[in-house]
Amino acid sequence: MSEPTEQAGVCDVSELKDEAGKLDAADELAALRERFVLDDVTYLDGNSLGALPAGVPARVADVVRRQWGELRIRSWEESGWWTAPERIGDRIAPLVGAAAGQIVVGDSTSVNVFKALVAAVRMAGEDGTGRDEILVDATTFPADGYIAESAARMTGCALRPVTPAEVPSALGDRTAAVLLNHVDYRTGRLHDLPALTAAVHEAGAYVVWDLCHSAGALPVGLDEYGVDLAVGCTYKYLNGGPGSPAYLYVRHGLQDRFDSPLPGWNSHAEPFGMRPGYIPAAGASRGRVGTPDILSLLALEAALQVWDGVSVEAVRAKSLALTDFFLRCVGEYVLDGRVESLTPAAHAERGSQVALRCDDAGDVMKRLIERGVVGDFRAPDVLRFGFTPLYVGFADVERAARVLAETLV
Ligand SMILES: *Cc1c(COP(=O)(O)O)cnc(C)c1O
Repeated sequence: MSEPTEQAGVCDVSELKDEAGKLDAADELAALRERFVLDDVTYLDGNSLGALPAGVPARVADVVRRQWGELRIRSWEESGWWTAPERIGDRIAPLVGAAAGQIVVGDSTSVNVFKALVAAVRMAGEDGTGRDEILVDATTFPADGYIAESAARMTGCALRPVTPAEVPSALGDRTAAVLLNHVDYRTGRLHDLPALTAAVHEAGAYVVWDLCHSAGALPVGLDEYGVDLAVGCTYKYLNGGPGSPAYLYVRHGLQDRFDSPLPGWNSHAEPFGMRPGYIPAAGASRGRVGTPDILSLLALEAALQVWDGVSVEAVRAKSLALTDFFLRCVGEYVLDGRVESLTPAAHAERGSQVALRCDDAGDVMKRLIERGVVGDFRAPDVLRFGFTPLYVGFADVERAARVLAETLV
């Protein structure tokens, strides 16, 4: 990182600004920003709450006024409310490399982690070999860890937290299920989904991937790599809105064996039969529980239209270019030693965010936000910047690094 002499500083600034302009001019995805409601703020928190897609307000108004206000109960059929969880699941499917019929949308990520993990342990128990251990990502988003602990107690399993790198050596005859985060929410590290999934299968166990920080930012390849179960939220890179419902993927070959710990009338083979005994529906619908939250679901459906004609590969290429450029600008602008990147330099290990360790990170982020650069702070000392290729450009990146440097002086 360079010395901050006045001269060098000024020179670097105009060079990097220039370069940002050229990169923006050459960016094939640049026009997609118009599909969102945005202002002059440099918004680098789309990995926590995606920006508002421009088509959502009118769609929500129609759902409320016409579908609910005028059609009322008829909308379950006529407006497609009843089938929305599967229909919207099929819209998410290509974004995570899944064929249709394997994803259902509903409930929170936390609830879906519970369904998936207990179902995975139950599958592992079917062959009677006494598998009684769950491995959980020791670096996981905390909620997944809390749920894994409870799921382990309920299923009579031992819970063993291990880092993703330790998973291959921790797997064994006792392993029933493994719960992993695809991208580390704190550091932005991307884990090797193909290799880890293969290792879990080699050991005869089942894997559950949490895609919260990867879906919508990079190709996932659920079908290609034979992932068993996956969950993810829709309010981060998928821009579904605050608290928008999450999704659950159960691969075709396992759907008949998916024994939900939360059976509901919505996942009954005959939901309107109102029978006392539970018979699970076929297919992805088996992951449903109760009445779906239609307003949020349909806001999400409208939000997903921003993906029309967009390739996830192009999004990934731009994401890497954005994070590369940010790391370079930070390297040029910020005093040596003032921040330290926790995000891997290798592309194969990087998600779509950059995490910088920094003393007084909480205060630094407050000052950045006051100056119109919005990232977030994760205790105790991490600044997180999320790069959402659909609406973040290279000029945003240069500005964020420059304001950061000025804030840290
Ligand atoms: C954001 C996130 C969650 C959030 O779960 P909710 O149930 O929506 O609160 C869960 N897991 C991971 C890895 C996340 O990044």
